[in-house]
Order: sequence, then C-alpha cells, then structure tokens
Amino acid sequence: MEYENTIEFAKRADSNDILKNYREYFHFPKIGNNECLYFTGNSLGLQPKTTKEYINRELDDWAEFGVEGHFDAKRPWFSYHELLTNKTARLVGAKPEEVVVTHSLTTNLHLLMVSFYRPNVNRFKIICEAKAFPSDQYALESQVRFHGFNPDEAIVEVSPREGEHIIRDEDVIAKINECGNELALVMIGGVNYYTGQVFDMKRITKAGHQVGALVGWDLAHGAGNLVLNLHDWEVDFAAWCGYKYLNSSPGGVSGIFIHETHVKNKDLVRFAGWWGHDKETRFLMEKGFNPIATAEAWQLSNAPVLGMAAHLASLEMFDEIGMDALWEKTIKLSGYLEYVINIISNELDVNLEIITPTDWSQRGCQVSIIAHGYGKQLFEKLSKAGIIVDWREPNVIRMAPVPLYNSFEDVYKFGEVLKAAL
Ligand SMILES: *Cc1c(COP(=O)(O)O)cnc(C)c1O
Repeated sequence: MEYENTIEFAKRADSNDILKNYREYFHFPKIGNNECLYFTGNSLGLQPKTTKEYINRELDDWAEFGVEGHFDAKRPWFSYHELLTNKTARLVGAKPEEVVVTHSLTTNLHLLMVSFYRPNVNRFKIICEAKAFPSDQYALESQVRFHGFNPDEAIVEVSPREGEHIIRDEDVIAKINECGNELALVMIGGVNYYTGQVFDMKRITKAGHQVGALVGWDLAHGAGNLVLNLHDWEVDFAAWCGYKYLNSSPGGVSGIFIHETHVKNKDLVRFAGWWGHDKETRFLMEKGFNPIATAEAWQLSNAPVLGMAAHLASLEMFDEIGMDALWEKTIKLSGYLEYVINIISNELDVNLEIITPTDWSQRGCQVSIIAHGYGKQLFEKLSKAGIIVDWREPNVIRMAPVPLYNSFEDVYKFGEVLKAAL
C-alpha cells in the first residue's frame, strides 16, 4: 500500500476497507461528548453492541427457567461452552477436540502446567523470556517451588542482546540446546506484551521437542491478533484470555489448546473436576474420574454462562471474518501507523523509536514506541486530546490499531494529535 499522511488518503483507505462496517458494531468510549481514539484493544477490547443482547438472553432464561435452564434455555447452559468450541478451533488453528473455553488465563496456565510441567531431579528447567508478563513469572516460580525446586536454578530466562530490544529466536533455540536434557518446559508469551514481538512458535516448538522438552505458549496477545496454526506447529499446549483482542468483557473467559496427542492420553496427570468428567455419566455422581477425551477434560467447574455469552457475541464476528482477512488489514493498518510515526519523527526531528520488529513474521498489530526525550507529559497531552493509548514508564507508548474496529482515519488523527503534542 502506498501511504500518504493526509486525511484524504485515510478516508480513501477506509472506504476501500472490506471490514469498515465492523466499526459500527462496537461501543467507543466517550471523553466529554467526543468519541475517543481507542488504541488499547490489546489491553481490553471494546464492547460489541451485541454483547448486551447475548447476556440478557441468559438473564431472561435464568428468570424464566431457573435451574431448568441448564437444559431448557435457548442455548442450554449444560453445554453452553460447546457453542464456542468450533469457532475457537478455527481462531487458533486447532481441531475442535484440542480446545475449550474455561476459567481465566493464569488459572489455566497453572492447570496446564500441572499436566505438562512434571519435573524430576534430572529434567526440571523451564525456559521463558526475560521480563515476561508478571503473572506468568509468578505462575512459573510458584510451579517450580510447588515441585520442590529453586526458581533461581530452574527458571532460565532469555534476554535481548546488549543494546537490542527484541529477543532473537536463535538465542531462544541456543538456550534450549544448552539446557538439553535438563529442560522440562519452554513457556513463552507468543507475542511479547511490551515490544509486540512475535516469536517463531513453530521453530521454537520443534527445537524444544528435539531435546525432549514440552512447549507451551501464552497467547494473551496472540489470540485474535495473529494467524495461528497451533495443531500443525505441534504446540503441546497454549492458553489465552478472552478480554484483549477477543473483546469478551473485563476478566472474561479464557481459551486453552492441548495438542491431540495429549488429549487422547487418559493417564495424563491433571487436576480434575466434574466438568472434565465423561458427559454421559457425569450426573451419576459416581466415584472414579473418567476424563473426556478432549481438552474439555481440563474443565473443573460448570461454565460461567454470562462470561461465555459475552465471548460468543465477539467470537461470532471473528468467525464470520476469519483471521486471514483480519491479518490482511493488520498489515495495512499497523503499517500505516508505523509510516505516520516515521513521517512525524522526520518532520519534527524528534526520536520516536519503534521497538516492535518491522518484519511481519515477527509482529502483530501492536506498535511500541520509545519517545526519546519525552516523559509522562506527552502521554497526558495525548489523553487530554481524547486518545487512549498505553503508557509504560519511563517513555514507552504501546498501541494496537485493531483491524476489527480501528480505521485509517483513527491513525491519521492520532498522528495529528501526536504532532501537536510534541
Ligand atoms: C494479559 C496477560 C495476562 C493476564 O492474566 P489474567 O489471568 O487474565 O489476569 C497474563 N499473561 C500475559 C502474557 C498477558 O498478556
């Protein structure tokens, strides 16, 4: 796409955008009387206008049926989560039996590690990225301690090289090989939440398997952002939250992926609950856990239907569009943001350093910028002008032009406000 930093260009690009109508399906927050420019869909996705209807449906059925709603509701609660399964499978490139929507993200990471981090004195190390999202760091440390190991010895972090912001895939692989048969698990954020870097999940998974380790991915910033092929990449497990790119309400439900080679293994160690038990015999309430031969076996409790309803409202849009079409727009739209930032940097002779990789195989829609020489004042000016971006001290701006509801005009307007603020 040949870009121009003009409103005419932005409007033209929007009118040619086949996804342009989806913007109308979302509520944009207002500051005063004006709709803000929203670039934090990587933190909390916007509310689809259909969400209320989906949740109200369940509230109405609860009022009408009480407990009978488990079977008599329009969308019976007993099997509500199943409405999400095929759509989720298509979203992440999985077979339906490899995914389930359940619990929340960190809870799921723990439940998955119960099954897939089984250390012994010889093989106990975990490789993760340096400065992983704090919840992931705490989850890993506590798992290591739970098994009686010392996090300082067991957790091996891979950092960017001196003077670089991005962790090189080859450095992750070198570390995997260095740990060799001491390595039990690789668990990395597939998209780094800070820089927006995307790891080569297929290559790293393969390298982990070659030394006999298992490989899992936290896809909090990957699901709904990237085209994923978890089954074909032979990923052992993955989990993601529903409330970032997937717009499924604050703290909304999470998805998990477990490769078919593992879901078929009934002897796998797991923490069990009645919702993971064989559906036919669940209500016999008998002794002896008999896991469902799908990712559903990791479900503990009956599904939180209101959260699932919010998830369904949003997933229907993803399913209608497909990740390939969203990805095509990401390349154009995030590419435009990058272009606008570079133009402004040059024009004003300021140093706005984009730390997100430029190569499309190494990034999603997020763009992270270091505003050299500027502090929080810049962020405050942007906020005052009605722009919602994410600020990290001392001077990093993270923003995600989301292909589902952001426009080229949003990006153009952001550039104008940024220019004025600088
Ligand atoms: C957002 C995010 C989380 C949040 O975890 P919750 O359990 O949903 O609160 C965890 N890990 C990563 C990498 C994230 O980006």
